[in-house]
Amino acid sequence: MNESYFSYKDLYIEDGRKVLEVNILPEKYCNFDCVFCPIGRSQHKTDVQRSFPGTDNSIVELENNINALNPDLIFINSKGEALLNDRIDDIIDLIKANGKAVRLFTNGYLLGRSEYMKIANRCDEVVGELKVLSEEDFQRLQRPIKGYTLAEYISNMAAFRRQYAGRFIFEITIIKGCSDGPGSIEKLKDIIREISPDKIVVAKINDKRFEKKFSITDERLEEISRALLDI
Ligand code: SF4
Repeated sequence: MNESYFSYKDLYIEDGRKVLEVNILPEKYCNFDCVFCPIGRSQHKTDVQRSFPGTDNSIVELENNINALNPDLIFINSKGEALLNDRIDDIIDLIKANGKAVRLFTNGYLLGRSEYMKIANRCDEVVGELKVLSEEDFQRLQRPIKGYTLAEYISNMAAFRRQYAGRFIFEITIIKGCSDGPGSIEKLKDIIREISPDKIVVAKINDKRFEKKFSITDERLEEISRALLDI
């Protein structure tokens, strides 16, 4: 029998809600291969769903954890792109059948495709993200599947947002030399207007391995956050 491969963070409280965060991939599967990825290099760079041995047991284990821990929200935040697990529909069904809210973290590129849009539409909250502001930086630093473009990335999230009835959270990670320079704030404001999220989160790279090269100071993060959250 195949073992469960889901993994969990300790239950935590966010805005008064108990959150259970779960990874639903056995190893990294992603349509990008970011140079600053905390998980490492993408051995499986794909935008096609896969099935993984052990999913039935993993789903049973998830239900047991929901019953034992009684969280208010299940946050699907995976080792890569969670939409690539071909049982994600069943996972969302299980969470909803247990009367819990579900939040999905995705890099956002696939949200414009109808099959993935339909899946994400079933979640109460969806988080999409953005890290760089030029096509060159997107290709060089996020190394997506061939043919992907930054323009399509942004328009996919905007298309998703236009028809999504849930809460869309837009996470912007400021990268030194890419999204912190003169003109970045205005560009980001235009993108925020296009996507029209319910909530904006502004962050910086916190992984020690990449801080020197890609992180900005707390003061600069604060300045940029204030300018963006003021929109
Ligand atoms: S999108 Fe996220 S998971 Fe995928 S390679 Fe980039 S940092 Fe890693």
